[in-house]
Amino acid sequence: MNPASQMAKLMLELRQAGITEVGVLEALEVTPREMFLPEQFKDRAFENVALPIGHHQTVSQPSVVGLMTQALEVTDRMKVLEIGTGSGYQAAVLARLCRRLYTIERHPPLLEQAEDRLKRLGLVNITALTGDGTLGWPEQAPFERIVVTAAAADVPEILLGQLAEGGIMVLPVGLDERDQHLIRVRRTETGAETEDLGATRFVPLIEAGVED
Ligand code: SAH
Repeated sequence: MNPASQMAKLMLELRQAGITEVGVLEALEVTPREMFLPEQFKDRAFENVALPIGHHQTVSQPSVVGLMTQALEVTDRMKVLEIGTGSGYQAAVLARLCRRLYTIERHPPLLEQAEDRLKRLGLVNITALTGDGTLGWPEQAPFERIVVTAAAADVPEILLGQLAEGGIMVLPVGLDERDQHLIRVRRTETGAETEDLGATRFVPLIEAGVED
């Protein structure tokens, strides 16, 4: 199959997975996923599967990236925080939809590669940081949206504290790989409302102070 028909097939799969927002579909369509993959996986860029990106990490399947992005209800006026830059693919998709994206990755070589890719794509509204994302980015808080692309045991309180009132955070919760759920949290005047968006599977969010 040529790239155009491979992309058409993927777009159909994304719609079938429940991605209906035109803006989100367009952002996925214009983001060249092969650019975010190691050499040996580039030819699988159009497959709706998670793929290894090195350092025991994976880039999510496009439908999961799409569903998380859609669940965030991002607009071009918003400041968004991503925890777990990884390959930079989710960052590239989000940066097309928001005003400014802040992204944190704990593995310096992954972040360096990701920043290079994002720069080559001309995405200039991204600020990246190497560090522990469980601490958030207090200097830039509050954020209208927060997305965590690694699984925590629970909703991290520090991140909830950096979410603007009325803001949305989307994240996988659950340390058992076979029992993880994608959760959407809306911060309200009085606290937070939580919604279960269904079963999912992510690499773990490494808590502060852990070495690997
Ligand atoms: N959004 C990424 C997915 C990467 S997988 C993409 O589109 O490719 C999750 C990433 O979270 C990994 O790169 C991992 O190193 C990172 N991570 C895990 N715990 C972290 C922490 N505490 N702070 C920052 N990044 C973390």
